[in-house]
Amino acid sequence: MADPLSDLWRVDTSDFQDSDSLQSILTSILRSVPDAMIVIDDSGVIMAFSLAAETLFGYKASDVVGKNINCLMTETDRVHHDQYIRNYLVTGERQIIGIGRIVEARLANGDSIPVELKIGEAAIGDRKLFTGFIRDITERQANIHRISELQAEIGNFSRLSAVGTMASAMAHELNQPLTAVANYLEAARDMLDAPSADDLAMVQEALTAAAEQSIRAGQIVRRLRDYVSRGELDLRPVDLKAVIDDAVTIAKVGIDGPLARVVVRMEDPEVRVLADRLQLRQVFANLIRNAIEALSETETPQIWIHTRHADGETAIQVRDNGPGLSEELIHSPFDAFQTTKANGMGLGLSICQTIIEAHGSTIEVSSQPGAGAAFTFTLRTAIEVTE
Ligand code: ADP
Repeated sequence: MADPLSDLWRVDTSDFQDSDSLQSILTSILRSVPDAMIVIDDSGVIMAFSLAAETLFGYKASDVVGKNINCLMTETDRVHHDQYIRNYLVTGERQIIGIGRIVEARLANGDSIPVELKIGEAAIGDRKLFTGFIRDITERQANIHRISELQAEIGNFSRLSAVGTMASAMAHELNQPLTAVANYLEAARDMLDAPSADDLAMVQEALTAAAEQSIRAGQIVRRLRDYVSRGELDLRPVDLKAVIDDAVTIAKVGIDGPLARVVVRMEDPEVRVLADRLQLRQVFANLIRNAIEALSETETPQIWIHTRHADGETAIQVRDNGPGLSEELIHSPFDAFQTTKANGMGLGLSICQTIIEAHGSTIEVSSQPGAGAAFTFTLRTAIEVTE
């Protein structure tokens, strides 16, 4: 039977008079292949180690060829690796071959670094060889981390600056009617010191004017609230899973100590919902961040994000196994400026409510002391139009 891979080999084998020539071709490949490349046999023993592998690991090929590949692994992988190969040879079940994975590599100087490992497999007669290509991704990971930090900073900054702008606009606009109300009321009080019939008519006028001004103040507050909730809503079909994944990353940035395990279970992982992507991400980020912070003292901290579908709607729940909402918050948790945190602003939940209401829905919470809190809301499922 023709070797299906023979097409890959364009060298005229008659050029090789002896195995030495073939050996020198293979050596030159090992010296020039740009990624670190390691070939092992089916018992895990290193057969070839490329020049780039020498540079990456800090070993000479002669130090490691003939040794078990597990000398390049961290403790956790080392103990299991021989078993992995045996399992694969017996069951044929691929866990990493052809898939690729991020693993930790142990260098000659004892450091460990994250690497991307891709494994190919070759059969020579009855025996199998495995070729690993290894790429240092320390820098890539640092960049990803930096990007997610920046995203979080931008998210937080825009939230704070929106709140800051709103607060100063509100203070400015409200100042006028409130000053007018105070002036009218003071004038009315003074006129009541020794009131004549004429004065009483003027008191009535002053009180009417004060009432008008306070209604104007109310209108300003309402206008600002509408601006925040509806102003810039950009409703589109949004990939819900991508939004949740981004929010989980953002919510975890800057948290010290052990992080809660986040379990995302979606009835349809490909669902798209009608939402403003950035605002929805803010809702998830706030809820997840709150849950992570609430779980700081919980023994096996867990957060579950579940989604289900019915009647054109997607129901979403963010639940944790933390202490639940405190006594003072349980009755009106979405009111602004309530916080139990030393550095909290008490705005996260109120922003979530404003955003979800702007999407035409409501957000609810159920909470049991000691058994966690669960926030639930629904969004319209986007219907894909197929031509
Ligand atoms: P902040 O996070 O600034 O305090 P929030 O409005 O986001 O503002 O939250 C208000 C309060 O609600 C928090 O201080 C906390 O006490 C409580 N809270 C929010 N989410 C949870 C949760 N998952 N578990 C327990 N308490 C929570």
